[in-house]
Parts: sequence; structure tokens; C-alpha cells
Amino acid sequence: MNPANWLVRTAQIAPEAPALMIDETPRGDYAAFARAAAGIGAALRARGVAPGERAALFMPNRVEFLEALYGIWFAGAVAAPINARLHPREAAWILEHCGARLVFAAPQTAAALREAIGPGGPEIVDVAEDAFAAMRKAPPLPAPAPMTAEDPAWLFYTSGTTGRPKGVVIHAGALMAMTLSYFADVDEVRPGDAALYAAPMSHGAGLYNFMHVIRGARHVVPPSGGFDADEILDLAPRLGDVHMFAAPTMVRRLVDRARARGLRGEGLRTVVYGGGPMYLADIEEAVAVMGPRFVQIYGQGECPMCITALSRRHVADRAHPRWRARLASVGRAQSATEIRIAGPDGAPLPPGRVGEIEVRGPAVMRGYWNAPEATARALRDGWLRTGDVGALDEEGFLTLHDRSKDVVISGGSNIYPREVEEVLLQHPAVHEAACVGRPHPEWGEELVAFVCPAPGAAPDPAELEALCLSRIARYKRPRAWFALPELPKNNYGKVLKTELRRMLAEGRARPLEAP
Ligand code: ATP
Repeated sequence: MNPANWLVRTAQIAPEAPALMIDETPRGDYAAFARAAAGIGAALRARGVAPGERAALFMPNRVEFLEALYGIWFAGAVAAPINARLHPREAAWILEHCGARLVFAAPQTAAALREAIGPGGPEIVDVAEDAFAAMRKAPPLPAPAPMTAEDPAWLFYTSGTTGRPKGVVIHAGALMAMTLSYFADVDEVRPGDAALYAAPMSHGAGLYNFMHVIRGARHVVPPSGGFDADEILDLAPRLGDVHMFAAPTMVRRLVDRARARGLRGEGLRTVVYGGGPMYLADIEEAVAVMGPRFVQIYGQGECPMCITALSRRHVADRAHPRWRARLASVGRAQSATEIRIAGPDGAPLPPGRVGEIEVRGPAVMRGYWNAPEATARALRDGWLRTGDVGALDEEGFLTLHDRSKDVVISGGSNIYPREVEEVLLQHPAVHEAACVGRPHPEWGEELVAFVCPAPGAAPDPAELEALCLSRIARYKRPRAWFALPELPKNNYGKVLKTELRRMLAEGRARPLEAP
């Protein structure tokens, strides 16, 4: 069950197939990729990294990320990817929390990390230095270390948008379930296709490599090492048959640039989006500008990429009477996952009723790293409590209302900020919008809105309120309006609502003035 076996198998079947690429430049075929990983695995063993121990990855997107990842698995160790944008102190906290023996870093991250860790911490290997080159060339391990389906393989620290990051332990069997489910429900991948890593590999995009390794596809890191909409639009037609994973905010930028340049996303076969809410207006526009290339997934670190999928067919089928309703949903349960909606007492609710989304199946984590209490809160009778609120319809389509921590309870009524944001985004003067609750002496909480004006526009709070009143119940309308040039986001593209609440608490939010 060791994922490194997938690489070994592909290297046997298609040793000369191009594997790793920067831009359009090949950086090695599958035989070389597998050879490098086997060498890194041996070098890790020689440094005392035993099966089950943790080795971390703290770097922006690079092809070496994949070599090091499969090297870690060759050794039978657990890979702990760390968001490269974290402050070195935050990374140091994660390294200590998971007891990593070694961390692969890049020139941008290595020096500051050295300072943050100090002497006595894990060894830091800069992948741009000779030490890494020597690891790649070390006498290779003959085969990947044995791993059972239950052995931990991937230790993912959540982005901490709702608190301190938690280390999600994902076992090898979950990675296999996720991968097969991807082929069944999300997309096929053909030999020679290209996986373009524009979203951070320390997040969902890092898990996106298995399907492409199994199929012998190309793994391409764009020259910028990150997300640049113009770069993607230029690179995709030259590469051809490109698959990429993008957060909704990235899709939005891609669509904006494609429209501005009169392009349709040529060369992009599939854009898988998820990881945060995709507003109906945005996906409608994406399909109108770029065509039927989009597949939505809903997942979370605790059940990576694998809860639901809204297939290309459902996204593209404009003629279907329920097209819009489906587009506003996150699709149906993937093959490896069961979903139910739980009421406040934990009992399952029928279709149409709103409650907490719970999921069960082989891709669900077995627990958090060294956090038995958090694990006990998250897992109940074999079901994972996602912390997301939503409802299933009669056909099994799941609509996600919001994260339970973001739901605003005002005067005893639940307000789902996402519903209000959807309305605000329909106004042409609004570029982005996010609603949060703030304490209110009488109602407990009240809803307030942060609005980012579209270029050259000046949204009028009175007009926005009128729009809300024309679309949603009166009690849901925002009671105060604030302006921001853009919403605070982490590098996975998620809006940091905790930061918005902090701005309110500290009196740093600027009111949206009438023009
Ligand atoms: P933390 O749990 O520490 O707050 P996080 O929420 O960023 O961190 P992730 O696992 O990265 O952790 O994010 C998962 C969450 O993202 C889901 O629980 C859900 O709220 C949201 N999400 C994922 N996919 C979608 C989607 N397709 N549509 C809407 N929201 C989504």
C-alpha cells in the first residue's frame, strides 16, 4: 500500500515517459524520478529516519517537492507538508509538534527556518544545495518500505482558518481510496496528460499528484512556482491536456484574465476547483467564458478531496432544468464516501433539512496527531463531523451553507453568510464580499458585510441593502457595511474571516461610505 509503489510501477511500465517538468523543460523521465526517490529514501534511512517517523516539506512549488515526497515514502516515513507562506516560527511549531526528524526546504525558506529552529532541531536539507543532489544519487533502496493501509503516510496541518492548525493523519489506504474515487467521480487522467501545479503543493494540489503518477502523466511546475493567471493561460496551450487544481479565488482570476485577453483557456482539459465556496455568479461566468472544463470537489484535510464532486457533465449541462440549483451545490457523494446530515442531537435528518455534514468511508482520517480530545470531538461512531453546515436534496446533491463557526445566530435565527455574499456579488459594483457576525448586546450577534468595490466602482450601501431586501429575508440583511480594497486570504485562497472579525474588534474596519 506504500504510494511509492505507484511510482515504481509507472517507472517500470513507462520508464522514458516525461515525468517532471519546469515550464516546458523536461527535468527527468519516470525512471529518473523513481531512481531519485529511491536514493532519497536510502539517504533518509542512513540519517536515521525510520518507518513511521516524520519528514517535512517546507517549500514553494518545485519539482523537488515530488522527489522528496516519494523519497520519504520509499523510506516508509510520514510526509508532513507545511504551507511555504507560514512564518518560520509557525513552521517550527509544526515541526516540533509532529516531531519531524528532517525537513526539506528551499532557498527562500531554509535560512529563516534555521534561525527559528535553532540548534538541536530537525536537520534542514535545502533542495537547491549539494546535500540534496547527493541524496538523489545515493545507492538506492531496492524497494519501498512495506506499508499497510492503516500506516500513516501524509500528515497534513489544516490551514488554521478557524483556530490553531491541527495535524490530520492520513493513512496510506485513505490515499488509495481518494485516488480511485478521483478516477471514478472527478476525472480520468491519461498517460502523457499534464498536471500543472499552480496551487500550493502543501495543500490539496500536493495530493493531486497520485492520479498523475499512476497514469504516467507529466508533472509541471510553472516558472513562477505559484499561481499566475496569465502564465497559466500562456503555458496551457503549449503543454496541452492540462489538468489543474485551483481554489475558487484562482478560478475567478483565471476567468477575469481569459475574458480580458479574449481566450477560452485553450490547452486546459480540466480545472478542478474547491477548498472554499464558489459563488454561483462566478461559476456561471467561468463556464460562459471558458467552457465546460470545470469539476468541483468538496473535501477537507480530514477527508481530502473526497467528500463530493460536481461532475463536468453537471457543470456544463445548461439545458437541465435544475442546472442552476446543481451548480450552486457541491455535487454528490464520491464513491468512497457516505454523507449524512446530522441534527443538533446527532440524529440523521431527512433530505431538505439543514444540519451538520457528517461523512464516513475509507478516505476519512483516523484522527489528529497527538490531539485525542480534538479527535474525539471530530469522530463520532465512525462518522467525521465536518464542522460544515448543509443539506442534501432528494437526488443526493449537497448544498453547503457555511462552516458552523461562521454561521451567525442573530436574535435566535441562523444566518448563513454565504447566502448573503451570493446576493451581494450579483451587484456589478461589488468585486468581492464577505459577511461575518459581530457581538450585539440584544441579539447576540449581528451580521455585517465587508465589500471590495469593482475597479472604478463605488458601491452604495443603500443600494446593496435594497438588493438584499429584494432577494433574501429581511432579518438576513447586513446591519453595517465596511469597505476593503481586497479580502484578507491565506495562500490557499481562503478568506480569513477571523482577520475580519479581528478588524472589527480592534476598530480597524473602515465604513463603506455612500458615493
Ligand atoms: P481549519 O480546519 O484549521 O480551520 P481549513 O478550514 O482551512 O483549516 P481545510 O481542510 O483546508 O481546512 O478546508 C476545508 C474546508 O474548506 C471545508 O470544511 C469547507 O468548509 C471548505 N470547502 C472545501 N471545499 C469546498 C467547496 N467545494 N465549497 C465550499 N467550501 C469548501
